[in-house]
Amino acid sequence: MKIIKEPTIYIVGSQIVNSDEINRFLDENDVSWKTDTEIGSEKLCEISGRICYMSFGKKQGRKTNKEYLENLLKSGHGSVLEHAVWNFIICGVSRSFTHELVRHRAGWGYSQLSQRFVDESETDFVEPDLISSDEELHNIWLECMEDIIEKYKFMLEKLNDKVNERYPDLSSTLKKKLVRQTARSILPNATETKIFVTANARALRHFIELRGYIAADVEIRKVAVKMLKLMQKEAPNIFGDYKIVKAEDGTEAVETDYRKV
Ligand SMILES: Cc1cc2nc3c(=O)[nH]c(=O)nc-3n(C[C@H](O)[C@H](O)[C@H](O)COP(=O)(O)OP(=O)(O)OC[C@H]3O[C@@H](n4cnc5c(N)ncnc54)[C@H](O)[C@@H]3O)c2cc1C
Repeated sequence: MKIIKEPTIYIVGSQIVNSDEINRFLDENDVSWKTDTEIGSEKLCEISGRICYMSFGKKQGRKTNKEYLENLLKSGHGSVLEHAVWNFIICGVSRSFTHELVRHRAGWGYSQLSQRFVDESETDFVEPDLISSDEELHNIWLECMEDIIEKYKFMLEKLNDKVNERYPDLSSTLKKKLVRQTARSILPNATETKIFVTANARALRHFIELRGYIAADVEIRKVAVKMLKLMQKEAPNIFGDYKIVKAEDGTEAVETDYRKV
């Protein structure tokens, strides 16, 4: 059993632009377009925005991708940012974190580790900072987690006997599910989980603002700040307006002038 204190985010997917098809579109519509970004998501946001006014060639106006996207952020033309999409795996987070994460609906997709399917006897736990920094609280917390795992294993064994006795004709998969979905009722919020997440840039910005805000829970705020740092490298022209500030308690929070585009 590992005790986890920091979330891990993997960016496992991002967009690739099909330049041949973009050039075919430009040729067939007698327009030209140049942009200075090499980042797929930034290119796609720019071209999708330019489609609205056919602002290509002589009508190109703003020259750099940064200028173009910043104007979208300023004017609140946020739907254009829905064309930029990434896939993430988030690990080392608690079930209480994912319960909060999945409240974000618009522009998100989720696939999470199933406690009905997966045996959690070997699970790790996510320890809150305020507990880990206090020896007495840490020891009590650790004792609780160890105790729960022992009792969870006991439950699995007893439930397994009960299910075999009561439902002998069920398939082995259904029996396992019935046992694990019942035993999981004693697992705590601190149980570590893994979640595959797909989100567009507009949805990510909204998440980063709400959950990077000082009033948000510490764990989800850590993920929001970490996500922001990754996204500022991944697509600086879409996420570059955010500033990371130190909160009174020394933790990090997020601020921007362009909220909820
Ligand atoms: C500090 C903090 C404390 C919180 N405390 C609680 C709590 O105590 N209890 C609790 O239940 N939740 C709580 N939440 C969760 C919160 O209520 C939202 O569910 C969560 O932040 C997702 O926000 P959202 O609905 O804006 O996001 P999304 O679901 O991603 O939606 C994005 C935007 O799309 C629009 N939208 C989405 N769905 C609809 C719809 N059906 N109709 C109209 N417009 C829509 C809205 O403009 C919305 O802001 C808290 C959140 C924060 C940040």
